[in-house]
Amino acid sequence: MLTSNKLNIFNMDLRDLENFFISMGERSFRAAQIMKWIYHKHVIDFDTMSNISKLLREKLAKCSELRLPEVVSELVSKDGCHKWLIRIDNSNCIETVFIPEIDRGTLCISSQIGCPVDCSFCATAHQGFNRNLTTAEIIGQVWLATNSLGGYTHGGNRIITNIVLMGMGEPLLNFCNVVKSIALIQDDLGFGISKRRVTLSTAGVVPALYRLRDISEVSLAVSLHAPYDKLRDELVPLNRKYPISELLKACNYYIAGKPYRRITWEYVLLDGINDSVQHATALAALLKYIPSKINLIPFNPFPEARYRRSSPETMTRFRDVLMKHGLTAITRRTRGDDIAAACGQLAGEVQARGRGRRTSQVF
Ligand code: SAH
Repeated sequence: MLTSNKLNIFNMDLRDLENFFISMGERSFRAAQIMKWIYHKHVIDFDTMSNISKLLREKLAKCSELRLPEVVSELVSKDGCHKWLIRIDNSNCIETVFIPEIDRGTLCISSQIGCPVDCSFCATAHQGFNRNLTTAEIIGQVWLATNSLGGYTHGGNRIITNIVLMGMGEPLLNFCNVVKSIALIQDDLGFGISKRRVTLSTAGVVPALYRLRDISEVSLAVSLHAPYDKLRDELVPLNRKYPISELLKACNYYIAGKPYRRITWEYVLLDGINDSVQHATALAALLKYIPSKINLIPFNPFPEARYRRSSPETMTRFRDVLMKHGLTAITRRTRGDDIAAACGQLAGEVQARGRGRRTSQVF
């Protein structure tokens, strides 16, 4: 990897950029100017930024840069999903996925190289963990995807309408860089995606949920996968540290006083493990008093997986039990599985650190 001492402007949100210009003896409005070039006009060459004087452009080029990770490959699935393999450094690549639907286009971005959370049904977990992505590497995925999809709009409509932090990694274990990336995604001077269209998915890092609520406006998806601690301890080992009752308390706090907010719960249906009528009934009881939507996710297999997908009948039965209890539940359609771009199949290339390949002791 080429290293550089220059400040990467992709690591800065509006406030950072304003401070950066002030520290150079320049006026703070330069921050808005440069953000418009980068995020609206998609220009990352200082010399093209015609409303910035030649002198300032030279000054900028001396101490800063606009450096993005590199797209190694792009695959397009039969159902129109795109998956990019993005090189972060010599030994690590991450994956980013675009999922087009009739009324929206969702970009699923990664927040870490690999993942330390070690959920037993997830391909990323089997890769181990290397490090957190920088803001530039997170926001760079949105920039590169936009670029490769041919720009922001098509026929007057936005191409990427929604962003989900549901790719590789646990976003709340990379708190500062993720919060800054969300700010750039939502800022009108950045990608300008409305608050409700940006969703962060977490396995349930409880203290970070309390912090997040007070500093960011992002919709929350929580990977629950089990209604009991004993089972969730096995599926999502983070549960041993933050059990279901604490997670629910934090989620209630997250939506309190925010009328439009509800929690999206993710529940991967694993054959014979968490998919019985009893599980569904317990789940309904657990979520009775919290504004919820439940996404039932068919398990997506990967080579080392020790689980099987529940049958369509079992999935329907599970959903019906939830609906009978008055909950909103949908079965998520599997997209992009022919290019291993579906939920939990993202693997990239991860040079795991620490003892063995798995490093769940990180949290
Ligand atoms: N760490 C975050 C975000 C990444 S995982 C989290 O846990 O939420 C994104 C979603 O994909 C999670 O709900 C996760 O549980 C789900 N997922 C992981 N592996 C899967 C698999 N093999 N099949 C289906 N969904 C899976």
